[in-house]
Order: sequence, then structure tokens, then C-alpha cells
Amino acid sequence: MWKNFNHIAHMKDRVGHLCVCVLIEMCRYPLGMTGGQIQDEDISASSHWSESTAARFGRLDFDNGDGDGAWCPDIMSEADGLKEYLQVDLRSLHFITLVGTQGRHADGMGNEFAQRYRIKYSRDGSSWVGWHDRKGRQIIEGNSNAYDVVLKDLEPPIIARFVRFMPVTDHSMIVCMRVELYGCEWLDGLMSYSIPDGHQMIYRGLDVFFNDSVYDGASAERLTKGLGQLTDGTWGLDDFLHSHSYNFWPGYDYVGWNNRSFPRGYVEMIFEFDHVRNFSSMKVHCNNMFSRGVRMFRQVTCYFRSGSEWEADPVTFRPAVDRVSQSARFITVPLGDRTASTIKCRFHFSDLWMLFSEVAFQSGKKKEKKKKRKAKIGCSLWDDPTHKVDDSNTRILIGCLVAIIAILLAIIVIILWRQVWQKIFLSPPNASVSCLKEISEHLWRSATATRPMLRLFFSKKESSTSCRAFAAGGSDGAPHYAEADIISLQESSDSSTYSITAVNMNFFAGTDSSMREFPRHKLTFKEKLGEGQFGEVHLCEAEGMQDFLGEDLSIEGNNESPLLVAVKTLREDANKNARNDFLKEIRIMSRLRDPNIVRLLAVCVDTDPLCMITEYMENGDLNQFLCNLRLKAADEDEIKQEETEGKSMVSYTTLIGMAVQIASGMKYLSSLNFVHRDLATRNCLVGKKYTIKIADFGMSRNLYRGDYYRIQGRAVLPIRWMSWESILLGKFTMASDVWAFGVTLWEILTLCKEQPYSQLSDEQVIENTGEFFREQGKQVYLPKPPCCPDRIYKDLMLSCWRRNAKQRPSFQEIHSQLLESLA
Ligand code: ADP
Repeated sequence: MWKNFNHIAHMKDRVGHLCVCVLIEMCRYPLGMTGGQIQDEDISASSHWSESTAARFGRLDFDNGDGDGAWCPDIMSEADGLKEYLQVDLRSLHFITLVGTQGRHADGMGNEFAQRYRIKYSRDGSSWVGWHDRKGRQIIEGNSNAYDVVLKDLEPPIIARFVRFMPVTDHSMIVCMRVELYGCEWLDGLMSYSIPDGHQMIYRGLDVFFNDSVYDGASAERLTKGLGQLTDGTWGLDDFLHSHSYNFWPGYDYVGWNNRSFPRGYVEMIFEFDHVRNFSSMKVHCNNMFSRGVRMFRQVTCYFRSGSEWEADPVTFRPAVDRVSQSARFITVPLGDRTASTIKCRFHFSDLWMLFSEVAFQSGKKKEKKKKRKAKIGCSLWDDPTHKVDDSNTRILIGCLVAIIAILLAIIVIILWRQVWQKIFLSPPNASVSCLKEISEHLWRSATATRPMLRLFFSKKESSTSCRAFAAGGSDGAPHYAEADIISLQESSDSSTYSITAVNMNFFAGTDSSMREFPRHKLTFKEKLGEGQFGEVHLCEAEGMQDFLGEDLSIEGNNESPLLVAVKTLREDANKNARNDFLKEIRIMSRLRDPNIVRLLAVCVDTDPLCMITEYMENGDLNQFLCNLRLKAADEDEIKQEETEGKSMVSYTTLIGMAVQIASGMKYLSSLNFVHRDLATRNCLVGKKYTIKIADFGMSRNLYRGDYYRIQGRAVLPIRWMSWESILLGKFTMASDVWAFGVTLWEILTLCKEQPYSQLSDEQVIENTGEFFREQGKQVYLPKPPCCPDRIYKDLMLSCWRRNAKQRPSFQEIHSQLLESLA
């Protein structure tokens, strides 16, 4: 289905502000210490305590039995103990937003960790900069035990190739570290910019500072050899007196200059790149608050240099003058595919002040080098569709890259699922836990190996997902989000810190109840029930099914013969990934047995097409079902209404009864440590008498494709149901299922009349997720449904969306609370 999905929304300047925030929040991929993409030879250290604690063991959570599982410096050899470092070479520039550290436990034998550390970084390997936060603090609070991973946001983020972790110690203990870096590749290629430092404005007695406060180069008359606020990914607001989320001085987000200090009427900026590139455009984020004497530039002239001389013919661009809107905006300056490694631009004032908050370039490497740059082009954070049209070579290359990545993904998925089959399902049950741990590591590695795609592809808007009609399904073999590993979050009181510990998933270790093959010829087609990710779902009569199931397995209270069943068939043209996913769903479902989980009765897998036979749920999926109902007012007579108006009316009590059943099914899943990852009304089925059963263990649906959000090459995500940590960190836990339950409960109580956060676009939903993470009171919650009592909203629904995963209720608690509310 996704193959036909060509309604791709590109980022536009208009929504730019939003997009960059999204991208920074999405730019949090582990860069390969844990997953192994960073090679041993790229990890070095100033010293090590012993061979078994050498630099190469400094990989976060990489305690594999070789060595003691961490890097430990030979602190004693250092006079001040502050010069020891563990160095990671990322091989190319990266935008690093987060770091993680862990101590050394050496299977219980060790108890060494770094309580505090500093970070130094370098783009060229020779000049090093000490990182400090926006308030100038260099020391980062690290670990307090040898086990937990402590993550720290780097604010401001770092653009670097080399990063050094430098433990800070008072010599009272031996220090050991395991580390990971999180971020994404920095494809701009900008190594440094040189500008005159910003000025100070006095606005109505208020001091407004427009200096580049995070610049990491040298500052004399001009700022040189560094990067700073113009590349920190934070765009200024319309009103320059206010800044984003930091409590800083007025003007903080902008670098700005006063016309009076520039007799020639322009500000000159020089941009140095990693190598010669072809530049298609430059984007400059400008303030335009002309009522306060600030306007975007009138004209810019850019000069290009590939060797030692500036080329004679500059490019000049004059943006259209805007005398109406005072909004800050990105201005795209076409650079005509000029080749250069250095660009000098002169920005001419059109008013007293000129304020910039971000500058970015769109480029490819020089043409003759195209073959070598395969893995890097086309992934700019600053995509500009208008210039893409001219760049046909780049488009062809991007197409090829996408195809290569799709093929690689398909291969990875096949290999991984083959391992899943062999290691979990063909080996004895008690071997499964360790196999799973290993496989989850593989999965994580593969997810991070395919990470460089950062341009976001937004879901098709017109397929509204509230009360929608059926649409044809399909499978594109894209990996789905369920491939992230499973961990639990343990939060600390510091809002920017959280630690992670691995959780055993022992669900698969239970007894194997292999599914029996049902004779295909005994199935008689009655009607089509729907269409899903794998193919069609049919209502069939199954002759002799009751005998086939036997007394023990028969469907309670259903003695009809022939029995009506739902038969889900894998479409014949399904690729191997879809086939494996289908078999996976069979395997999972065959092991689940609960009144509120859809039951798999039998399978037909000896020949194609593969089929799974499940109990028939007369009323289809819960989303469609509720959508066709109306809420009965509290004072209406329940029995009378149900008799007269049949299914068109439903009472609040019945709705809560449905939620109770879902909570009960989830309670069962959580007792098995099983994380569903896609709980939503669309994935619950309705039988007779409002019986609800949880279904869809394939974790991905195309029917409700508007409910899913896709990041190219990475995931199909039901973002509106996902917890912040699932979206930002890829962590799926029981607590993230609880979050999804909160959304599902909200859907139920609004009778699925609208999609969650329907007023927010996909990008805004992700931005809101960032607000949940930052927890500065700006996060938006789903509103209280009109029929929802205050206490259910406050004590239950909102508690499912608590930032701290540990503070969310368990399904056991949710179940009892809902039951009590009915009493
Ligand atoms: P997907 O593969 O996208 O997860 P399914 O194949 O499970 O979706 O189901 C597609 C649709 O078929 C559902 O939305 C539902 O309406 C219908 N359906 C699926 N299973 C059953 C069932 N056991 N009883 C009744 N209807 C079903």
C-alpha cells in the first residue's frame, strides 16, 4: 500500500519553525557504540587501567564477556586526574544531541563509574573545544551506580566528528565508563562560519543582546573558526524579545547587527565547508519585526571559492520586500549550483537592524565525486522542493539510494526473522530468553544501521481516520516500529536525565502450543469482512470445526455447526517480509488465551495462500463500531432505548464496560510481559453483547493509514497513541502500552468521532511529544470527553500520560479503578 503512497508533504518555509524542532527531536539515534557501527579502531583513550578495560570496551551496555565491560583510565598516571579521556571518532561530522554513560559492573565484580564528566569535541581532530551548556557549565552529572544508563541532553547540541568523554574525579575511586552518543549525521558540511559578533539593542530601556552566545570558535574583532547559534537548530520567534524554551535574556535566539556600525551597509559572513560542494541554495532565518526597526536583508551577494582565489562572478539575490507580515521566516537564496568550499555572503541592511537565527545550506558534493558520496546526499535537514526540480541528477541518485536502502532493509528483515524462527521457535523454550536478548540487540543494530534518513515523510491527510471507510490494504515490506528493543525507563528527578535498564521478555519462554492445520476444503466462503495489512479477511463456515477443536478448545457457549469463523488470508503476491510477519502473528496469537484476546483457532499453512482462522467477531472493529453509535443521555432508560433504538445508542456504562474488557486483556498480556505496541480501538474487535477482544498482533495496519506516521526507511508509527519515550527513544514497554490505553479510553469515550489530537498535524503531534519530554507545562493533553467524569479523566486518563513511565498505573490498577467506577 505504501508503494502507491505518493502524497509526500515536503517541508515548507511556512511551517519551517515547526519542522526543525521535530527534526532535532528525531535526531537522537544511537550512533553506534552500542550497536557496533563504530569500529574498535575508532575508539581510543588517553590511557587504560589494564588490557581488559581498554578503550574498545567503553561501549554502553556492551558487556559481552570479553574484558571487564568498560573503559577504565589509569587515573594514577595523571597528576590532576582531569586529562584522561575516552575518544570516539565518528568518521564524519555529526549533530549530537544526547550522550549516555554507564559504569562498570563486570557481572557484579565491579562498582566503578563516573559521577561527573566533561565533554570535548573537535571537527577536524586538531582543535578541541570544551562543551558547556547554555549557562556556561561544563561538568555533566554522570552515574550514581555501575548499572544504569544515564542520558544527558546536550543543550546546545554539538556538531563534531571527534568526541572525548573526560571523567572528573577526586581520586577517591577508580572511574570506568561505557558511553553512547546519540544524534544524526550533519550533512550540511559546514565546518565553521565567521561573522562580526552581534550587537546590543536597548529597546524601551530593556537590554537586548544579539551576541552569538554559544559560538565555539575564536572571538576577537570577528568570530572565527567556530559554529554557534546560527547552526544550533533553534529558530527565533517572531518577537525577538522572547526566546524559545530557555530562560535567557531578551534577544537570545538571534544574532543581530546594527546598520550604524557598518558604513558599507552590509554584514559579511564567511562559511567554510568540509570540502568542495555544489550549492543549490542557502536558507537564512530572519526576523522581520519592522515596527521595532528590524527587517530581513534587502540584498545578499555571495562569492565562491574552491581554491585560493574568490571567483569573479558572485550571485546576487533580492528577496521580495514584505511590508505586511512581521513573522520571522526562512528566506531561500538560490546559489545556482555553484561549486565552492568557501562562501562569502554580504547581507545588506534594509532597516536599522538585521537579525538572523539560523543559516543552512543545501548542497551535494562536487559532481565528479558523486559515486563516492552514495550514503550521504539527499538527507539534508533543510530540504527545499523548489530547487529539487532543477537537480535531476540528485533526484536520480536519491531514487537509487532509496531503492538500495529498501533492498537492504528487506534483506535485514529476512535475516532477522529467520533468526527469530530458528532461535525462538525451533529451539527449546528455556533457550528463548537469551535468544531474544540477542535478537533484540540485532534488531536495534539494524534499526540504527539504517538511520541516516532524516527527512520526514508525512502521512496522507485525506485519509481521515475517524469514521472512515475501508480501503484496500497492501504491504511494502517496510520495517515497522515494533522492531525497537524493549526496555523500561527509570526516571530520576532531574528532568533531562533518565536511566534505562533492560527487561527480560519471558513471554516466549512459555510452553509451546503449536497450531493445528485445518483442512482448507472444509471452509466455505460467506462474505468479505474487511481488508488488512496482509490481505482480505473473510467470513467462512468451518465444517466440523467444533470436533476439530475438541472439548478443551471449543469456543465457549458456541455450539453452532458449521461454525462461523474469520479467515485472514495472506495475499498471494505478498513478499517474504509480509509472509514472515503473518507467520509471526500466528505464532504470537497461538500462545495467547484470554477471554479478551481474539483467539486463533487453527491455521492453513501447508500450502499457499497462508490462512489463519480466528473466532468471528460479529461487530467488526471497535473504531467502526463506536463511530456508528450515539451516546445515550444518562437519564434515558437503558433497556427501553436499547430495545427501540438497537445498536444506534450506547450508554456511558457500556462504554466503560468495553474499556474494562480491554484493560482486562491488557492485564493478561502484561502478566506475560508482552508489549502490544499498537493498542487502539482500530485494533480491538467487537463480538456479541459488546464483547471486546484485543486483536492485531502484527503491529502494523494500513487500513487506518492516516493513524500512522512514517519516517522514511525506518518506521510506520501510530504516533497519536504513542508515549513520548516510544517516539523519541524508540522504547516500548508495558508503560507505553498504558499510555496507548489512555488514548484508547479517550477514543471510546468520544465514540471515535475524531482522531486523537485531530487539530494537530503529525509534525505538531511530534512537537508536542517534545513538550512531554521537556515537561515545561507546554504539553497538550487530549481534552476530557464530554461524558467522562472528572475523576476518570484526572485520576485515570491523565495518569496514563504521566511523563515518568514508572508513575503510570499498571493494567491491574487500571482494571480495578474502572471496575470500581462502575460500582
Ligand atoms: P490488519 O491486517 O490491518 O491488522 P486485519 O486483517 O486484522 O487487519 O483485519 C482487517 C479488518 O477485518 C478488521 O478491521 C475487521 O473489520 C475485520 N476483521 C478482522 N478479524 C476479524 C474477526 N475475527 N471478526 C470479524 N471481523 C474481523
